[in-house]
Amino acid sequence: MAGNWRADLLAPFLELDQQGKIQAEYVWIDGDGGLRSKTTTVTKPIKDIQDLRVWDFDGSSTNQAPGTDSDVYLRPARIFKDPFRRGQNILVMAETYNSDGTPNKTNFRYHAKKVMDLAKDHKPWFGIEQEYTLFDVDGTPYGWPKGGFPGPQGPYYCGAGSGKVFARDLIEAHYRACLYSGVNISGINAEVMPSQWEFQVGPCEGIEMGDHLWMARYLLIRIAEMWGVKVSFHPKPLQGDWNGAGCHTNYSTEEMRQPGGIKKIEEAIAKLSKRHEEHITVYGEDNDLRLTGRHETGHISTFSSGVANRGASIRIPRHVASAGCGYMEDRRPASNIDAYRVTSIIVETTILKP
Ligand code: ADP
Ligand code: MN
Ligand code: MN
Ligand code: MN
Ligand code: MN
Repeated sequence: MAGNWRADLLAPFLELDQQGKIQAEYVWIDGDGGLRSKTTTVTKPIKDIQDLRVWDFDGSSTNQAPGTDSDVYLRPARIFKDPFRRGQNILVMAETYNSDGTPNKTNFRYHAKKVMDLAKDHKPWFGIEQEYTLFDVDGTPYGWPKGGFPGPQGPYYCGAGSGKVFARDLIEAHYRACLYSGVNISGINAEVMPSQWEFQVGPCEGIEMGDHLWMARYLLIRIAEMWGVKVSFHPKPLQGDWNGAGCHTNYSTEEMRQPGGIKKIEEAIAKLSKRHEEHITVYGEDNDLRLTGRHETGHISTFSSGVANRGASIRIPRHVASAGCGYMEDRRPASNIDAYRVTSIIVETTILKP
């Protein structure tokens, strides 16, 4: 396995003075839910998104516009520090807009922002557990024997030691890059399936959840590119007795976090139970392959909840039940969700709907 990033050759160039200019890497979600980015030079350090221009790109090359009307606009939404170029250079999470001013088809942030503004007095917090799987460029799960399988699941979850964990160097790089960038990463762990990992982002309030999760994913795929490794966000990357990958979404409002808040948590769960199908439609592609009722999941066709139950749709953590307040965990979202969609439907169902 050879990496794609010649750090030794690049190093002296990254030391060169930038002559006061700043590189701003605009990052956006493409027409298929992937991530794209391109860079522009700005003439002074950026303190605020207002200081950045609205930019554009060729949407016909990203499945976001027809060739005859191909300009799609990039409107800066949130700034992070750039861990690759360092210094005053920045990464910019941007929203996409069509030429007529309407949000592009994969711009779910536009709607989410409206929802979060309406619900802001409730201070909705989210924490997302992003699971993902690493693959070699040839399609074998990273570190697995070519043409074969590692031993069955058991020693890998939170594992330590050779043969139990794979690519820890890449994962360490990602963790530190998130901290440096200002992504609110709250932890990492090796997962049940070998070469499957998880990072957690949160708690983040309102619209920040989507911004931070998408930037964390961007950093991961950029770093994996340096290692020559591919990241899969597919919810069931391998058939058979291997765990799928999810994006458990932890959620609370200010009322739930206060003493006696468990009552509010139970009320929210009752509301969620009535809109199970609507939620499933935005909880990721191919999630039916994952939500089988096995491998620590609830079945896709039924809603369930329970304290400390990892086979339920919604789990109330044991410590939350004991304290009588805190948060709930929606275990249904798949690893390939758009966090803007998931966080906004949760707020709509539990706060905005009567
Ligand atoms: P699990 O036990 O399900 O593996 P993790 O420790 O991986 O849980 O993730 C828990 C997530 O819950 C973290 O992202 C954390 O930031 C988030 N979290 C903690 N407290 C709250 C809260 N009050 N509201 C919403 N999310 C929270
Ligand atoms: Mn050009
Ligand atoms: Mn977790
Ligand atoms: Mn997990
Ligand atoms: Mn979880």
